Amino acid sequence: MNNNPSAYMSVGRGCFKKAFIAALLSRHTTADIETLVRAELGWNCVYCGIGQEDAQIELDHLWPESTGGCLVIGNVVPACPTCNSLRRDTPWQAFMMRSGRLGRPRDKNEGDAEIAFLMQYMEKYDQTAEPTLNSTLTRLELEILASLELMLSAVSDGALAKAGHKKRQAIRFNDPEKMFDELVSVVAKYIK
Ligand SMILES: [Zn+2]
Repeated sequence: MNNNPSAYMSVGRGCFKKAFIAALLSRHTTADIETLVRAELGWNCVYCGIGQEDAQIELDHLWPESTGGCLVIGNVVPACPTCNSLRRDTPWQAFMMRSGRLGRPRDKNEGDAEIAFLMQYMEKYDQTAEPTLNSTLTRLELEILASLELMLSAVSDGALAKAGHKKRQAIRFNDPEKMFDELVSVVAKYIK
């Protein structure tokens, strides 16, 4: 049993930050994405080749959402639920080579050509570089995220200090007055 309140605080901060990042990333999506992807790639699973008559086709992120990949043209491809869930965060090229195609093993040349085709699709929409929060989010969104982290630290520090954990390393704001000033300056930035 872990009785260290700073451990709980850091877990709580992590979850909150993750949810907030997901919300910011969701602002970066291509409108009417399915129509655009259909026009570029058709609507068969790019991995196993199964069509919509036989499976409920979904959109699979080439750069995974977990590393900042967005629902944008050039980063999503049609995939069947089986391939989508089997792939998880495996690099798509590796998954392409090891998945079968229309019920038979994939031929090496065929796989290379399909990978080259999808690379062109990514290039066309400037999606070849691995995304990061810095490359995906706008400057304002990054600023808001940094401010949010500061506020979360201040709130958890306040709670820890109240619980008598003043001397813990996890506390970032030892000086309550300074903490107050920092919070006011963060809030003032967005309320004008
Ligand atoms: Zn498939």
